[in-house]
Formats: sequence, C-alpha cells, structure tokens
Amino acid sequence: TEIKPVSLRQVIDEALLLLMPQIKQSGVAFETDLPADDIIVSAGQIRLEQVVVNLMTNALDAVKGRKDACVRLSMAVEDGHAVLSVTDNGPGISEDVLPQIFDPFFTTKDVGAGLGLGLSIAYKIVHDFSGTLTAVNGPSGGASFTMRLPVAGTQT
Ligand code: ADP
Ligand code: MG
Repeated sequence: TEIKPVSLRQVIDEALLLLMPQIKQSGVAFETDLPADDIIVSAGQIRLEQVVVNLMTNALDAVKGRKDACVRLSMAVEDGHAVLSVTDNGPGISEDVLPQIFDPFFTTKDVGAGLGLGLSIAYKIVHDFSGTLTAVNGPSGGASFTMRLPVAGTQT
C-alpha cells in the first residue's frame, strides 16, 4: 500500500462530493468547521476518503428521522496531530455495544440495512497510517468519532 503526502482538505472535498446527494436528500443540517490552512498527512488519499464516507454515513443513519438532525464535520491540528471529527445529535452509542463497534460484522442495524463493516474498515485504514480512531458520546447526547493522524513533514 502506497503512502504519500495527502491533503486532508482534498480528502474532505472528495468525500463530500460523494456524500452530497445523500446529505441533501436527508435534509439534515450539515455543518463544517475547517481551518483556512490545509493539513497534510502521510496516507493514501482514497482510503482516507473511505474513512470519512463511512463515518459520515453512520452519522446520517444515526440522525435519521430527527426533526433537528445535525451532523458536523471538523478538522484541526492538535499536538502535531491532524484531528478529524464527525459529530451527530442522534441517539449516541449505548455503553453495552461501545466495546464492539469496531469489530467486523458488528451492527445494531436491521438485516440488510448494515453489514457492520464500515467502522472496522475505517479502523484498519487509520491504524495502517499510524493513527487512531475513537468514539465517544457527547455530554448532551449524540456520538462523535475522531480520527487522529500525525501531520506529515515539517508542519507545526
Ligand atoms: P453498520 O453501519 O453497517 O451497522 P458500522 O461498522 O459502520 O456498521 O457501525 C457499527 C455499529 O456502530 C452500528 O451498527 C451502530 O450500532 C454503531 N454506530 C456507528 N456509528 C454510530 C453513530 N454515529 N451513532 C450511534 N451508533 C453508531
Ligand atoms: Mg456503517
């Protein structure tokens, strides 16, 4: 697998291009919080797009049917790491399934609605690039998934 300098801004742009029909159709309020400056990581462009698509797809699933549905995508640099988060105001992740959500084929969705592979694939991709992928529930409900990757080269 080839690892090159990858623009996180470009990853997000390409992923959103793929997701936009779904976002529009869902009617959710979609917000982004992206810095003016790009962030470069050592990774594979397409595989990082896959991570963003998988996290966003789950967030859109989670808020389905809510009147005040909201999904937020943010990116920042913290402690020499690129931090990309997808946050939703859905039901959050129940504590009893939290330890299993990154397992292959684990799903709480109806048969046919989810294969349970999205998060396990995302987890593997992020770890292949020396990063981490974590999930937390928000203080006022909803779930938040965060990918952290070392920034490439001499960026601060
Ligand atoms: P799938 O989406 O096919 O169920 P995933 O691997 O993408 O498989 O996710 C596994 C499980 O993690 C989901 O079935 C759900 O229980 C939980 N999950 C993932 N994202 C969220 C989210 N944003 N909010 C609540 N639960 C989530
Ligand atoms: Mg999924």
